[in-house]
Amino acid sequence: MTDIAETKLFIDGTAQAASDGGTYEIHNPARPSELVGRAAAGTLYDVEQAMRAAHAAFPAWSALSYAERGDMLRRVAAAITSDMAEVEARARLFTREHGKILRETHLEISRLGERFVQSAEYGDRLARDEIIRAAPNDTIITRQPRGVAALVVPWNWPLAILGAKLPQALMAGNTVVVKPSANSALAPTMTLHRIAEMLPPGVVNILTGSASRIGDAIIGHPLVRYVNFTGSVDVGRHVMKVAAENITPVTLELGGNDAGLVLQDADLTGDAFSRLYRAAFMSTGQICFALKRLYVHRSRFDEVVEGLRAELDAQVVGDGLLPETTMGPMNNAKQLKVVTDMIAEARGRGQKVLELGQVPDPDLYAQGHFQRPTLVIDADPTLSVVREEQFGPVLPILPFDTEEQALAMANDDQFGLASSVWSSDVERAVRLARRIEAGYSFINAHGPSAQDGNGPFGGFKKSGIGRNFGYEGVVQFQGYHSIAGAPGLLG
Ligand code: NAP
Ligand code: MG
Repeated sequence: MTDIAETKLFIDGTAQAASDGGTYEIHNPARPSELVGRAAAGTLYDVEQAMRAAHAAFPAWSALSYAERGDMLRRVAAAITSDMAEVEARARLFTREHGKILRETHLEISRLGERFVQSAEYGDRLARDEIIRAAPNDTIITRQPRGVAALVVPWNWPLAILGAKLPQALMAGNTVVVKPSANSALAPTMTLHRIAEMLPPGVVNILTGSASRIGDAIIGHPLVRYVNFTGSVDVGRHVMKVAAENITPVTLELGGNDAGLVLQDADLTGDAFSRLYRAAFMSTGQICFALKRLYVHRSRFDEVVEGLRAELDAQVVGDGLLPETTMGPMNNAKQLKVVTDMIAEARGRGQKVLELGQVPDPDLYAQGHFQRPTLVIDADPTLSVVREEQFGPVLPILPFDTEEQALAMANDDQFGLASSVWSSDVERAVRLARRIEAGYSFINAHGPSAQDGNGPFGGFKKSGIGRNFGYEGVVQFQGYHSIAGAPGLLG
């Protein structure tokens, strides 16, 4: 019998139960009858307390120098990554509540630590003001933090996505109220507690609970000066409307339907198929910037299908805690249905659908939210698996004849998050990548294993507004402030 995990809210420096004592349950997606733990179900009263605490902590936190805040972020990074026993226990809990395999859970935890260090390293650059000396005035162009930032993260990569916004918000001088997703709240919340405990009271506050109960109260709170949301288009649209009430600026990182273009001259030797596989199927395909549509030059089409078929068929689908498992279940029944409906539609339209991978425990597979890794070969471009975001382990493959045709198909989409070009001619690949409507493009790779957080990340079109990560990801949590005086007056 494994322990039942319990997590609390964190407000003004104190771990606490919800004001009415409420909790909700989280179950294991590999065996949904197994209770993994209970998280506090925050109330409107808790939201109010968290906002007041964050607002009260802001003057002192924002008055610290970048070097001082950077030192604290470095200490936080060490604290969340150095205790190997704690990291292992947290990783196992996260795999049980989320489904993803242990190796990927560890990757998330280490990523979060790395982003704290990375944000701290921007300190010197952030501290430099620009001065324009030109009649009739000299102008210092400086920036100031915004105040209380509301940070909302989805269930799919909660810790890595926190790494795209939490250290940046803190480095910029903001205090924060964080809302993790109800679908993976236990281990992420424990890690957040560890972070919050190391900072002055009120700097990091944590609210778990039902979005329908507390979501709008967080986003629309008059003390919130910035909203940074990662999640779906529908909720993103709603968040933007609620934030509009107080003219609160938003960053929205929404869905993606990333195209990958395999050119005639692509080098598919070595681990190329393993990279293509991970691009699309890592975390059971539940990644906003996973490869979601693969366009292949007709001369290489059969080779790519065969290479990917072999790669997918070698995967072991099962409980993410088992060392032999390479693909866990999907996180929840709702997302599983989106994917199985898309596969059923493709089958119903007479398309060639290959459901691959090994299933050592069919009973477990039948119980849990599992879907084997699947290819839709020569997919009809009107299928929903091509037009929409699948966010699960199914990849459509489509042939093209010319580069222009491939580009037109890649750009004929409502989303513009990431993309990739696969070619042995890197100049040609970069030239093509520049013409893809996407906020981020990879050459001969795709997805989180090829992203280091140095470049700004985000999307065009319905993939969202604004950019997380990098120096720009810190600056978004600030506003420009110009200070002007007669020539020579400001020194
Ligand atoms: P979601 O349903 O939009 O939820 C995202 C977050 O918003 C969750 O924490 C959710 O809480 C919360 N939320 C819901 N209603 C809210 C409200 N009224 N006010 C404030 N918060 C509210 O998305 P998801 O299903 O968790 O995640 C999958 C989607 O996220 C996919 O479309 C994926 O592409 C996208 N995504 C994008 C990126 C990116 O960087 N562009 C990264 C990862 C995922 P509850 O879960 O508690 O309801
Ligand atoms: Mg799609």
